[in-house]
Amino acid sequence: MNRKIGQYGGKLPGTLVLAFGALHGNEPAGVHALEEVFRLLENEQHVHPGFAFHGKLVGLIGHLQAFEKKVRYLEKDLNRIWEPAFVEQMLRQKNGTPVAEAREVVEIFESIRAEMETFPAKEIVLLDLHTTSADGGIFSIPTDETASLALARALHVPVILRLQDSIEGPLLKFAAAGHFHSAPATIAAIAFEAGQHDDPQSVDRSVAAVICCLRATRCFNGEVLKSQKDILLRANAAHLPPVVILRHVHHIGAEDQFRMRPGYLNFQKIHKGEHLADDVNGPILSPLDGLILMPLYQPKGSDGFFIVQ
Ligand SMILES: [Zn+2]
Repeated sequence: MNRKIGQYGGKLPGTLVLAFGALHGNEPAGVHALEEVFRLLENEQHVHPGFAFHGKLVGLIGHLQAFEKKVRYLEKDLNRIWEPAFVEQMLRQKNGTPVAEAREVVEIFESIRAEMETFPAKEIVLLDLHTTSADGGIFSIPTDETASLALARALHVPVILRLQDSIEGPLLKFAAAGHFHSAPATIAAIAFEAGQHDDPQSVDRSVAAVICCLRATRCFNGEVLKSQKDILLRANAAHLPPVVILRHVHHIGAEDQFRMRPGYLNFQKIHKGEHLADDVNGPILSPLDGLILMPLYQPKGSDGFFIVQ
């Protein structure tokens, strides 16, 4: 299987947009969405011969090995290991690497560098497409940079602030810190959460988010490629808060035997003292009033739940 899903543009100057699907192998919606976006772009070129695409879009599969096996990850969460010292060590060791994810880190690093060299752009956008195990999780996660925040707002879904800071080693944080490029380029990195893993609408919402992102990045102008999917994305997010701030993360380890209590949905209201989950030490109560995000209903994961306000 090829890591590269497709590419489009590259003839006119503009932004280099690197879009990732399945950085978690059990989240195929982003990959299918990118395949569809490339089909839509090819089609647009035939329907409207004057269609001009500024910049270049490249779609990549994040965790190739886990995607083939339909699991979140093999040994380590690929979105929690982008620490500069670790990445540098993996790049030095290359073939003698100890964990399965190290191969992914090296290949992703080299793919991104190669794309940046092939299409040297002043502005780079990194869009990371995800889904969640619980229903209703439609939101964007920017880094602290202004360009990233602006892009997150452009998707018309709730923006979750401070989330990148609270987790260890996500790809976006590594990218936003400039570890992929030495040239004087700016990078805007955001993650988009499209909803539940197996919901077919998660693919549609991801398609809308990618198109929206390309439009906000001025890869093409105005009204082209507007579809029912944009309406779906806006409608699904209409009742959700526009901006929230992360207040609490319940980190977990395998030895905790963490079990979320059933029935929690993304953005569901919770109260201080509410019995949310259990682990080896007994009940886990909410430390504050807020809205719950990404309650964990799958065996693998390093965070039990998030609370935003
Ligand atoms: Zn994910």
